[in-house]
Amino acid sequence: MSTVSSLQATILVIEDEPAIRAAVADALREAGADARIAATAADAIRESFESQPHLYILDLGLPDKSGVDLCRELRAASDAPIIILSARASEAEKVALLRVGADDYVTKPFSVAELLARCEAHLRRARATARPVDDARNRRVSLNARTPPARRGAGGVRHPTAGPRPG
Ligand code: CA
Repeated sequence: MSTVSSLQATILVIEDEPAIRAAVADALREAGADARIAATAADAIRESFESQPHLYILDLGLPDKSGVDLCRELRAASDAPIIILSARASEAEKVALLRVGADDYVTKPFSVAELLARCEAHLRRARATARPVDDARNRRVSLNARTPPARRGAGGVRHPTAGPRPG
């Protein structure tokens, strides 16, 4: 994808439509991302815990939970950017999603190139704001009250924007 330089990040694609899920995941992998997938809200919560994504792409039309509720739950557990994907375009719903922690909104049908570019932009900004926390870690002081230093990298709550994973 010539419009995106590289997406060195773990990205969770939450979408119940197999064709869209595969197209987005394939494009992300082609751009260098570690793309994880989930077809339901339950899968998404489990995968989010296991892989601690740097960014979420969340389709609103899931079979088992409202997009607003899932967005709120993901945000409660992670600071990673959340990009909403939806055919619906109600202004009230967009406002509700932004209020519960969504960072961006892409309306279907969408351009994969545009979605990747938005992923790149959100990851770049997330990494930029994560740097002071990394500096603080070296002094054994965390500026981020939601991420106790003792749990970093130990399978607990990892700051999702702390930069690329080893390996
Ligand atoms: Ca859907």
